Amino acid sequence: MTWARKRCHDSIVGRIYLVILMLTHPVVLSYHLVDRRFDFGITWVTPRQFERQVAWLAEDGYRTLSLSACLQSEFQLPPKAVVLTFDDGFRALMKHVLPVLERYGFVATVFPVAGYVGEQNRWDYNLFWRRMWHLDWNELRELLAAGWEVGSHSMRHAYLPSLSRAELLHDLRQSKERLEQNLQIPIHHLSLPFGRGNLRVLECALDAGYASVATLGQEFDLADSSLSGISADRRLRLFSRRGIYLHDTLRSFRRRVQAPMNSQSERLRQQAISVFSYGTVLLKALRQSQHCEKSLEI
Ligand SMILES: [Zn+2]
Repeated sequence: MTWARKRCHDSIVGRIYLVILMLTHPVVLSYHLVDRRFDFGITWVTPRQFERQVAWLAEDGYRTLSLSACLQSEFQLPPKAVVLTFDDGFRALMKHVLPVLERYGFVATVFPVAGYVGEQNRWDYNLFWRRMWHLDWNELRELLAAGWEVGSHSMRHAYLPSLSRAELLHDLRQSKERLEQNLQIPIHHLSLPFGRGNLRVLECALDAGYASVATLGQEFDLADSSLSGISADRRLRLFSRRGIYLHDTLRSFRRRVQAPMNSQSERLRQQAISVFSYGTVLLKALRQSQHCEKSLEI
């Protein structure tokens, strides 16, 4: 922290850089799907795995917080504070996650794909055409009533670094507005699809009015960025999350929660999983292009 303060002084870029360092506490965990049905890939956990993990958190004295509570309290957080986040907003949350968290008095943050609320996950690559339902508006309201927080996971789950600035701004603003209008709450937090972004994505997140961005194992070198045009009263907080996946045993889960953030092995693990996840989108694009070619031939 001292080093960063010296290096960055009080430039705008420096302030953002400092904020990134500050928010390595609390522990922010990232889940995707919690379901009994087998799914290809590793970005899911079984209900039994999830229950055991939550039970251990409770037994070990952890308390859950929302991302907004973290931003408001910053350094005043309890020592064992954990934020549970769920990307994509699958309907299975209602059955396998909400009842478990309620049993322990825990809350979480869900990041639905705003353009697919109440619809199937057509944005994802699905082997054997297996589809899953996303939460609908009533279910999202039910989660809010249970003390959960809702953030945006973009409009269509696109790989954001591949979008132009105009496309990015449109997507991030549209997803925020759609969630705000339907849920009648302000949306402050953005979770990056595939956990990946770049400096342009961060700039657009700020311009679209987000207060924080949740990443997965990615660091940003803001020192050489073009973020210098950002006014002093607008700060973007980055939450660096720890992904929990199918291969996590209770032992590795405990290690992940207790380990200092930003270890080299954790970053490499997370990057490998993100690349794998993005690979599924490339497969989908390939399949769609083949489908188009066939249609043209006909
Ligand atoms: Zn996602």
